[in-house]
Amino acid sequence: APALELAGVRKTHDPDGTPVVALRGVDLRVERGEFVALMGPSGCGKSTLLQVAAGLEPADDGSVRLAGEELVGLSESAGARVRRRHVGFVFQFFNLLEGMSALENVALAALAAGAGRRAADARARELIDLLGLLDKARRPPAALSGGQRQRLAIARALANRPTLLLADEPTGALDSAGAQEILELFGRLHELGQTILLVTHSAEVAAGADRLVLMRDGLVDAPVREAAP
Ligand code: ADP
Ligand code: ADP
Repeated sequence: APALELAGVRKTHDPDGTPVVALRGVDLRVERGEFVALMGPSGCGKSTLLQVAAGLEPADDGSVRLAGEELVGLSESAGARVRRRHVGFVFQFFNLLEGMSALENVALAALAAGAGRRAADARARELIDLLGLLDKARRPPAALSGGQRQRLAIARALANRPTLLLADEPTGALDSAGAQEILELFGRLHELGQTILLVTHSAEVAAGADRLVLMRDGLVDAPVREAAP
């Protein structure tokens, strides 16, 4: 099964009795091993699409499949299990825990994914090493540069060996050196076989992807077709 398959996905936000339609019937498929960039104007529904794909927000209608497993219609706890098994999520502003070390941030995520204490520590060390942060392992996130913090957040997102890595503007809060660092890292993870779907406003980041998907007004743009002869 593909890593992610969205079909006819609809989502309306309604925090205070004023409904805002965010997704109007989105179809999107991400194959295993693909690196897909999602672009589109602010407010077109990109973040909502990622949150629905991650099972962080329920879809109102349609189908959301992660590695073939349907999320729509599952209870919250069953959905959380599918999410823990298949999804890693990277946020624009890192969302790291400042009260613990870099290594502990990653180990905690591995524990949450169901690893035992020793396996979680080993997994955390392996990821911290893979992402070039071994010399920062004992430092708190505050001691790291922006690019290093986002690398740490990516290490954490990989703790459960996710089928799909989702990232919402992962370079949006970084200077150009930090953004470059993260761009190279996504390229390397992709080479290692990691499936990635990211939202970006940066043409440079999007250029690193296999495929660019454009969104507009709650819909993924239909592919352009040749006119019939
Ligand atoms: P993008 O990521 O492309 O900027 P979003 O998915 O954040 O788009 O937003 C799509 C639409 O849904 C926008 O009109 C936005 O204001 C609205 N929206 C997003 N999240 C919420 C929310 N939690 N409550 C209400 N409206 C929301
Ligand atoms: P982005 O363009 O990166 O999506 P936004 O500022 O649109 O950034 O959204 C940041 C967060 O706020 C998202 O999680 C989104 O769901 C939420 N959000 C966006 N619009 C609204 C809104 N009108 N009301 C409540 N939450 C919103």
